[in-house]
Amino acid sequence: MSIIKDFLLQLTVTVIPIFIYFTFISEKATSNKNKKVMMSILWGISILFCMSFPVSFGQNARVELRIIPLLFGTLYTGSGSGIFLAAIIILYRLSFGISLGFYNTVLVLLLTLPVMLFFQKTFVRSNKEKKVKIAVGLAFYYCLIGLTLSGILRGFSMDYLRVQIIHLIFVVIVTWFLILLNETIREIYQLRLEMQNTEKLRVISELTSVFAHEIRNPLQVTRGFLQLLNEPELPESKKEYIQISIEELDRANEIVSDFLAFGKPTIDHNEKVDMGYQIQRVVNILQSYTLNHNVEIKTDILDHCRVYANPQKVNQTLINILKNAIESMPNGGTVWITCTPTDDGYIKIAIKDQGIGMTKKQIERLGSPFYSLKESGTGLGMMVSFQIIRSFKGKIEVISEKDKGTEFIILLPQT
Ligand code: ADP
Ligand code: MG
Repeated sequence: MSIIKDFLLQLTVTVIPIFIYFTFISEKATSNKNKKVMMSILWGISILFCMSFPVSFGQNARVELRIIPLLFGTLYTGSGSGIFLAAIIILYRLSFGISLGFYNTVLVLLLTLPVMLFFQKTFVRSNKEKKVKIAVGLAFYYCLIGLTLSGILRGFSMDYLRVQIIHLIFVVIVTWFLILLNETIREIYQLRLEMQNTEKLRVISELTSVFAHEIRNPLQVTRGFLQLLNEPELPESKKEYIQISIEELDRANEIVSDFLAFGKPTIDHNEKVDMGYQIQRVVNILQSYTLNHNVEIKTDILDHCRVYANPQKVNQTLINILKNAIESMPNGGTVWITCTPTDDGYIKIAIKDQGIGMTKKQIERLGSPFYSLKESGTGLGMMVSFQIIRSFKGKIEVISEKDKGTEFIILLPQT
């Protein structure tokens, strides 16, 4: 029984860094270098635990999984991490005293680490199947070298072979399992990011025609004024015409830059975001969309609505929710947007429409992928929005009444 317990402990210690990575590090770490340092430390701790609590089969027969953190650290985090982890193994082994086992450890590392480093670059570029093959192959090679070397140093015996073979099987199975686990979580994570981008592209293509229209308006106004200025008897309000033309061109320019900013690939970069300013930009982007739908947008925004987030992602959420509000009023109406700080440390953005509303059941389904009641809807907008707001530790509340209207409340932690 105690052997199984020991094995389970080893397994737990090697799997924890993977979960910590996907839960806390992959999205929140600010730079690649930070990620690498944190992961090297985590794998290092994992190694120390593995070596401190080995599975023992009686005297001198101990096996443990230190190869797993070493292998994962080297392959996923890079050569620097691999060398750091090997150094940890050697130093920690040294603290047990210099014995045959110590020389064995050093020799095994000398013979296996260079091979791991050699395969690291290929590994990073490979697909899932190839990664499994490389990692399992390396784990197998490590065990084989370990088995041979300690056999030579200590002499082979039946008992000894039995323990080593159990070790080998265990290591290979765990490596195989953990690589698959890691890669599968990574795929799910990637898919989530891709969803966000797909939804963004769709919104862009939907808005493009109205957007072109919106640019044409100021151009036509400006052209009209230029024509007037060309008349022989100069109009009195010449200055005013020029002023209006400049304003119109500025507006066109602003719309273009907002639109470009929205379409830009998202850089994973959080910063202080002035929500009032962002709401204004989003209203700008959607201006012609609202006109087309006969909708008026009224805003009431207090100063100091600052949150720590990614402005592009926040904009994407605002656009999704605002577009839904506009689309919920086929005969036109008003959308109110307010932005206020709350007493309990949140920034509250409320987007309220007078549209068709939703039943309780519909509210519950909101945010599930592909849930849409629209003819050409994708049902991804709300899913992505919930995801984005959750990633900034905020929440979305929905209050809705059938045929009366809907209010979306976004709460984001204030900075
Ligand atoms: P899509 O807009 O492509 O249909 P969304 O995820 O943005 O997908 O919205 C999902 C569904 O939620 C919509 O089809 C609509 O039925 C409902 N919905 C969202 N916002 C509102 C709203 N403000 N008023 C009424 N229904 C809404
Ligand atoms: Mg939508």
